[in-house]
Amino acid sequence: MATEVDATIVAIANQKGGVGKSTTAINLGAGLALQGEKLLIVDLDPQGNTSSGLGIDRANIELSTYEVLIDEAPIDDAIEPTSVKDLHVVPATIELAGAEIELVSMFSREMRLATALKPITDEYDVILIDCPPSLGLLTVNGLAAADEVASPIQCEYYALEGVSQLMRNVQLVQQSLNPLLEVEGVILTMFDGRTTLSADVVEQVRQHFGETTYKTVIPRTVRLSEAPSYGEPIEAYDPMSRGAIAYRELAREFRRRHGRT
Ligand code: ADP
Ligand code: MG
Repeated sequence: MATEVDATIVAIANQKGGVGKSTTAINLGAGLALQGEKLLIVDLDPQGNTSSGLGIDRANIELSTYEVLIDEAPIDDAIEPTSVKDLHVVPATIELAGAEIELVSMFSREMRLATALKPITDEYDVILIDCPPSLGLLTVNGLAAADEVASPIQCEYYALEGVSQLMRNVQLVQQSLNPLLEVEGVILTMFDGRTTLSADVVEQVRQHFGETTYKTVIPRTVRLSEAPSYGEPIEAYDPMSRGAIAYRELAREFRRRHGRT
């Protein structure tokens, strides 16, 4: 369902590592694509977990997010298809780690991703930007290019630690670069139904973020952590698994919240 209106651009951000950003980018992305949306995922993390998790062989990438940001390579040339129809990705390589430093002295250093995306926003319904686990210039580029921020929060000790720092950065980007940026959602990930801790975190996060919190909670399941090594989203790897069901529901909830159903 390609549209003539511009894509909704969502930065998936949380400066903590290991909270489920890449897993959410891959599986929310695949879920949305399978529900008829035309999807692009931009991998903004030098670790490239999203790219490899979508089956991109990182040894054979010619153009990546790095060249798009630093050399102003046309983003169209960097876009790769994936095994899921209507799910495309701009892959990242480890070179992108250098971009954090190289950007510092560059012209329009915070707006380079926003500028790069401009020519293609009408070709997609949703663009997800998978941010790295830091609040440096790469993440700032992600936030400056986005309409919305979605933040995965792990149902673990210190879940909310650092979240106020993220929100502060969102405010700074709103004030100076991107006044329309909104915090669209908080996504609870790695929920373990056997522990009261997980339930406590859900409670805490809902109290803190209210309706911003997605109703769908992503369970901790081994299948979700296995899928990336097969280069497949959970929908392809094990469509009947609890993880697949949860991300499918998250995609539905995303579409409802955006008036897309
Ligand atoms: P981030 O991108 O925030 O660093 P990832 O999405 O890469 O986090 O997740 C960190 C690790 O946890 C990965 O090994 C991933 O496979 C695993 N993981 C993510 N979500 C889940 C989940 N719901 N259940 C089990 N493992 C998960
Ligand atoms: Mg990641």
